[in-house]
Amino acid sequence: MTEHTPPVTQTSNGAGPRRPAAEADDADVIVVGAGPAGSTTAYYLAQAGLDVLLLEKTRFPREKVCGDGLTPRGVKALVAMGISVSEQDGWVRNKGLRVIGAGKRLELPWPELSSYPGYGLVRPRTDLDQMLARRAEQAGARLLEGVTVTGPVRHERSGRIAGVVAKDANGERSYRARVIVAADGNSSRLSVAMGLRKRDDRPLGVAVRTYYQSPRHDDDYLESWLDLWDGDRLLPGYGWIFGMGDGTSNVGLGLLNTSAAFGNTDYHALLRKWLAGMPAEWGFTEANRTQPIRGAALPMGFNRTPHYYQGLLLAGDAGGMVNPFNGEGIAYAMESGEILARTITQALARARRSETERVLAGYPRALSDAYGGYYSAGRVFVKAIGQPALMRFATQHAMSRPALMRFALKLLANLTDPGGDMSDRLVNGLSKLAPNPK
Ligand SMILES: Cc1cc2nc3c(=O)[nH]c(=O)nc-3n(C[C@H](O)[C@H](O)[C@H](O)COP(=O)(O)OP(=O)(O)OC[C@H]3O[C@@H](n4cnc5c(N)ncnc54)[C@H](O)[C@@H]3O)c2cc1C
Repeated sequence: MTEHTPPVTQTSNGAGPRRPAAEADDADVIVVGAGPAGSTTAYYLAQAGLDVLLLEKTRFPREKVCGDGLTPRGVKALVAMGISVSEQDGWVRNKGLRVIGAGKRLELPWPELSSYPGYGLVRPRTDLDQMLARRAEQAGARLLEGVTVTGPVRHERSGRIAGVVAKDANGERSYRARVIVAADGNSSRLSVAMGLRKRDDRPLGVAVRTYYQSPRHDDDYLESWLDLWDGDRLLPGYGWIFGMGDGTSNVGLGLLNTSAAFGNTDYHALLRKWLAGMPAEWGFTEANRTQPIRGAALPMGFNRTPHYYQGLLLAGDAGGMVNPFNGEGIAYAMESGEILARTITQALARARRSETERVLAGYPRALSDAYGGYYSAGRVFVKAIGQPALMRFATQHAMSRPALMRFALKLLANLTDPGGDMSDRLVNGLSKLAPNPK
C-alpha cells in the first residue's frame, strides 16, 4: 500500500483538508470499539460535523463485565452528552459510598461541589453501552455492529496507520480514514498490532463480579468492603455491593497487581469466601445467583502509552485510563473520549498536514494535564497498599476518623472543585506535586 497525496478539499465539518471522493476515505475518523470511550469519542466528533465510522465487534445490547456503578464524575459525563439520567428513565441513584472495614461502617455522602452533581448512578452495562452508542448515532456517527477489526492498514513507507482491516458476516474488507481511534478496551488488539504494549511499571487490577437476587437491591449507597483476607493477609483491593434496583445486587471484588497475592489468587473462591461471611438474609447464596461469575482486567494509571502513535489515538481502557485509587473506568473512558474528539476536530481543521500532525501530537499532553499528576499519586498509593501491614494500618487508622474518610473519598473518587475548600485544595495540590508520568 502506498501513501497518496491528493489535492485538498473540505472535510465534512467544512473546516479543512480531505482527500477527494475518487480516492476517498471511508470516513474522516474511524473509531474502533463502541464502549463508553468509543461512543463518547464518536458522539463529540459527529457533533462537530465530522464523518465518523464507529466499528463494534458485538451487537447491542451486549454484556460487559463491570460493577455497573457510576460516581458523580460518570454522571457529569452522561449529562454532558444530553442523556436523561432521571429515575423515571430507569436510573438508580445513590447518595454516596458506604465503607465497611476494621469492624466499622461509615456512610460518606458524595461531596457537595459546583463541578460535579451530588449523586451517583447504577445502570447495567447492557443498557448503558447501548444508550451511549445510540447517542453517538443520533449525533450522526455511522455505527457498524458485528464488525471485528483484525488489524491496521499501514502506509508502506511511513508505517503510519491509514485504516483498519475488519471482518463481518460477509467476509473481510478494509476501511480508511485520516485518523484512527483505538477504543477497543483493555486488550486493545489494534494498539498491540501497532506495537503498543501494556507497561509493566503501571498498575493493573483484576476484578470479578456476578449478580444475586437480594433484598438489598434498592440500596441508596454504593457499598465498599475493605476487608479482603487471604489467610491472615489483608489484600489490596475491595469488595463491592451495588444495588441494581431490579431485585438484584451486583457483587464483586478487585485486587491490585502490587500485592504478592495478585497472580496466585483464585478470585472465584475469594468471592465465595467473602460472601460466606455476609448475613444470610442478604441472600448472597448460590441459589440466588442469577449470572455466572465473570472477571476482567482493569488497566490503570496510563498503563499503555504513548497515547498517540503513527496516526493512532488511544481512549479509555485501551490507553489504560482506569483510576488507580478506586478502579473507576467509565468516567475516564468518556472524559478521554471527549478530550480526544476535541483534539481531532481541531487537528482536521488545520490547512496543512504538518499542522494536523502537531495538533494530534498534543493529545498525550492534554491527557497528562488532565490526569498525569493524579495518576502518579495513584501509583504511589497502589504501591503502598500492596504492603499488607500498611494496608491494615491505613484501614484501621482511617476508619475511626470520619473526617479523614470524607477527605479520602474526595481523593479516591477524584471529586474536587478547582480552588474549593481546604480538602479540595489539598487533593488538587497533591496531584500538582506528583510528577507527570513519562
Ligand atoms: C469486574 C469489573 C468491574 C468494574 N466496575 C466498574 C464500575 O463499577 N464503575 C466504573 O466506572 N468502571 C468499572 N470497571 C471499569 C470499566 O468497566 C472500564 O474502565 C470501561 O468499560 C472502559 O470503557 P472502554 O470504552 O474504554 O472499554 P470497553 O468498555 O471494554 O469497550 C470496548 C469496546 O470495544 C469493542 N471491541 C473490542 N475489540 C474490538 C475489535 N477488534 N473490533 C471492534 N470492536 C472491538 C468491545 O466489544 C467493546 O464494546 C470495572 C471493570 C471490571 C473488569
